[in-house]
Amino acid sequence: MNAAVVLFTSDLRLHDHPPMRAALGACDQVVPLFVRDDRITATGFPAPNRRAFLADCLTDLDTGLRNRGGRLVVRSGDAVSEVCAVAHEADADEVHMAAGVSGYALAREERLRAALEQEGRRLHVHDTVVTAVAPGVITPAGSDHFAVFTPYFRRWSQEKIRGTLGAPRTVHVPERVGSEPVPSRKDVAGVSAGLAGGGEREGRRRLTSWLRDGVAGYDDRHDDLAGDATSRLSPHLHFGTLSSAELVHRARAPGGPGAEAFVRQLCWRDFHHQVLAARPGAAVDDYRTRNDRWRSGSEAEEDLQAWKDGRTGYPVVDAAMRQLRHEGWMHNRGRLLTASLLTKTLYIDWRAGARHFLDLLVDGDIANNQLNWQWMAGTGTDSRPNRVLNPVRQARQYDPDGAYVRRWVPELAGLEGPAVHEPWKLRGSDRERYDYPEPVVGLADGLARFRRGRGAARPDDGLAEARQ
Ligand code: FAD
Repeated sequence: MNAAVVLFTSDLRLHDHPPMRAALGACDQVVPLFVRDDRITATGFPAPNRRAFLADCLTDLDTGLRNRGGRLVVRSGDAVSEVCAVAHEADADEVHMAAGVSGYALAREERLRAALEQEGRRLHVHDTVVTAVAPGVITPAGSDHFAVFTPYFRRWSQEKIRGTLGAPRTVHVPERVGSEPVPSRKDVAGVSAGLAGGGEREGRRRLTSWLRDGVAGYDDRHDDLAGDATSRLSPHLHFGTLSSAELVHRARAPGGPGAEAFVRQLCWRDFHHQVLAARPGAAVDDYRTRNDRWRSGSEAEEDLQAWKDGRTGYPVVDAAMRQLRHEGWMHNRGRLLTASLLTKTLYIDWRAGARHFLDLLVDGDIANNQLNWQWMAGTGTDSRPNRVLNPVRQARQYDPDGAYVRRWVPELAGLEGPAVHEPWKLRGSDRERYDYPEPVVGLADGLARFRRGRGAARPDDGLAEARQ
């Protein structure tokens, strides 16, 4: 009997899974393998919220495989050594995996290919597993990637997305290959109280209800902070319990402005992935440096801490930061305006904000997080790098009644309507009733104070921002 190993990474599903399909087509037996990679653990990247969600995903993947006669094999250690060891135990000729985009993923792929070749085995890397359109497939003349979203979107929209694959019916795993226990969410400490549940079945349930009840209204309601009218599928896309290609097809089937707007956001995801694949260094370095001299020192540290704690004195910013801590997730509008306050108004290095997001976000993703942070900080792909989002105007526009702020900032819950966005306007005893800080920085003077020498940005030009 011939055998193959399927290495699962950011693709923890059975539906629409090209590596699994190829392995099952070529071999009688398949080892579905997940490696808890020491090198990734050592970077501190697996924060508690993502470890908990991952445990749900692995448990569900194991259940799905058992229902088909198989099981998941889990190992810990160096990914390359573990894959080679499992391939040896299974006597597998081939290993299948999804193509990654981060510098680490690309280097791991190369190491694995070389190690397997030495033992006479082949590595098959499948693209369009993590993204709908593979990085590098569409490029502008003279460059290896698109640096501007709109022309990328135009080309991406014309690309033929591969058809969706069904889940396998049966999977035979060689008995001789042993496994560690599948991790469990209850073994993870420090998880956000409101963290969503993970796993492919949960992802598919959410997708079905989103396509039935949510997507049609997405175009009108995606920025409604209190309405919470986005898909919340990002953790499922991050862990690959849902496939981006399948989502594009299923959203396009009914069509309409809501579905089109939703598919456009999936394109933003592919856009950032193709930027990172071409420029892996953008995970830490400015994509387009503007020679910022970010603030540092104790005052900047205090401001950063106030931002992390949701105590900046700007209620909509604080609401979003508290949602992040409580749920391990934040609304996109919240991400934009909190990132703007930190980088453009407080003039604190985007890397500090991105790190905090990665410490908490269940969908925390190198491509989407680092490049969206850079977009907002003006060091990335934004064609208007000086845009600044004014948190009061943003709050009035996207939380007009103040319901989002009252939900997350309970100490201001007594303030009715949009007055909740500007508690500093209260006078005397009215102000004293609310135990809530004064703004860390005045909007009018934020940039003038912190951003000497750059000059071009104004703190009130935030309303015309591109749809992001
Ligand atoms: P929807 O609005 O329902 O969108 C559907 C899907 O499209 C999302 O699940 C996501 O996969 C993709 N998408 C939407 N907007 C973007 C975008 N701007 N860039 C890339 N993909 C997008 N997204 C992450 O998945 N991981 C991150 O770590 C992350 N960090 C961010 C940091 C900042 C500072 C900003 C401004 C945005 C960040 N985003 C990140 C993008 C976006 O905010 C989230 O994808 C979105 O809020 C997730 O909610 P949703 O699934 O309901 O999105």
